[in-house]
Amino acid sequence: MTARNPHPPRHPATHLAHAGRDVHAHGGRTVNPPVARASTILFDDLASLREGYLRRQEPDFVQYGRSGTETHIALRQAWSGLEGAEDTLLLPSGLAAVVATLMAFVEAGDHILMIDNVYAPGRKACEGLLRPMGVETSYFDPAVGAGIAALIRPNTKLIYLETPGSHSFELCDVPAIVAVARERGIATALDNTWATPLLYRPLEHGVDVSVQAGTKYLGGHSDVMLGLAAARAEVAQRLRTVCDLMGYSVGADEAYLALRGFRTLEVRLRRHEASALEVARWLQQRPEVERVLHPALPEHPQHALFARDFDGACGLFGMVLVPGYDERAIAAMLDGLAYFGLGYSWGGFESLIVPSPIEKMRTATAWDAPGRTLRLHIGLEDPGDLIADLQAGFERLGRAARAAE
Ligand SMILES: *Cc1c(COP(=O)(O)O)cnc(C)c1O
Repeated sequence: MTARNPHPPRHPATHLAHAGRDVHAHGGRTVNPPVARASTILFDDLASLREGYLRRQEPDFVQYGRSGTETHIALRQAWSGLEGAEDTLLLPSGLAAVVATLMAFVEAGDHILMIDNVYAPGRKACEGLLRPMGVETSYFDPAVGAGIAALIRPNTKLIYLETPGSHSFELCDVPAIVAVARERGIATALDNTWATPLLYRPLEHGVDVSVQAGTKYLGGHSDVMLGLAAARAEVAQRLRTVCDLMGYSVGADEAYLALRGFRTLEVRLRRHEASALEVARWLQQRPEVERVLHPALPEHPQHALFARDFDGACGLFGMVLVPGYDERAIAAMLDGLAYFGLGYSWGGFESLIVPSPIEKMRTATAWDAPGRTLRLHIGLEDPGDLIADLQAGFERLGRAARAAE
C-alpha cells in the first residue's frame, strides 16, 4: 500500500498531506484509510492460511492483528517517508519504542553508552531491566563530541542519544559521535521527539534508529499513546523481532489518530515554534528569570549546533529562575495559572508547565543552574494571552517570596 502517485522529491508539507493515503488499496473512496480494527484476519482457504503464516514476518503483510492492519501500514509508510527511513515500527508508547530500540542491539555481557540528558525512564529501563539481565550502561556528558571514542569499551554495542534533552535542552554533536561509532561498528539511536523528523532527521546524520514518542507532537491532541522507531530495512528487522518477541501491539485507533495528527504536523509545529520563541524572548527580559533554555536562542551555549543541524524548533523549552524562590512561592505562581496546565507529557495543542529537577536526572555530569528550573510547553493559544498569564504568575511569585521574608 504505497501512495498512489508518489513523487519522491516533494516538500514535507506535501508529503504530510498525501502519504499513506492510497484510496484504491483499501477499495474505497474516502480521503482517509479506514480504521481497520482486528485481532483475527481471515484467509480464503487453507493454502492461503499456510502462506500467510510463512509470510508473517514481512513488514507489510497483514497476518494477525498484533502486527498491524492497513491503518498501521499507512502510518508506517507515511512516517518512514518523513524520516527518510525504509521502515518504521509502531509501539504502544514512546517509552516502549525506547526500550525496544535498546533491546534490539544488546545481549548479556554488552555495554550501552547513554547520553546523560536522556529521557529519565530510558535510564530507568537500563538500570532496572537491562542491568539485571547482564547489560551494563554508562552515561556520558552531552558535550562529549568526538571524545566519545575514549568511552567506548570492547563490548559497547549501542550509543544512545537525545538532542536536545527534553529538560536541560543541551544539544550534542551528532555527526561527531556517529563518525566515531561507525568507525567502530557500533550502532547509534536517537530520541528525536523534540524536533520530529520535520525539523531534524537523524537518519540523514548517519544514526541507525530514530525514536519518536508519537504521544507528543504526532498525536498532537493529548489523547493518544504511541511510539515509533524508524530505520533502514535491516535494522528495522531487528526491531521487528523484538516487537514480535515482546508481544508489542498498537491499536488501530491509535494508529489512525496519529495519522490524523500527521496531516497537520507542520502547521502546528510552526505555530508552536513561533509562539514559544515569543514567550521565550519575553522571559529573557524578566528579572525573575536567570536564563532561558532554548536552543534556537543565540544565547544558548550550543546554538551553533542547532543552527547547523536543525530546521526549526518546537514549543518545548525551559527557564531557570533566579535563586531564592521556595516551593510555596513556586506553587503560588503555578497554581494560579489560567492557561498553563500542570502535567507531564507535551506536544498537544495546550500549554503546560512543570518543575524540572534536572540535577536529579543525571549521573555523569552536574547541573549547575543556581535556581529552580521550570519546563514550558507553549501550545496553540495566543502567545499574548500566555505572556499575560505568566506575568500574573510572576507577580504571585514575587508576593509569595516577599511574604516569606
Ligand atoms: C514522553 C517522552 C518519551 C516517552 O513517550 P511516552 O509515549 O510517554 O511513553 C520518550 N522520550 C521523550 C523525549 C519524551 O518526551
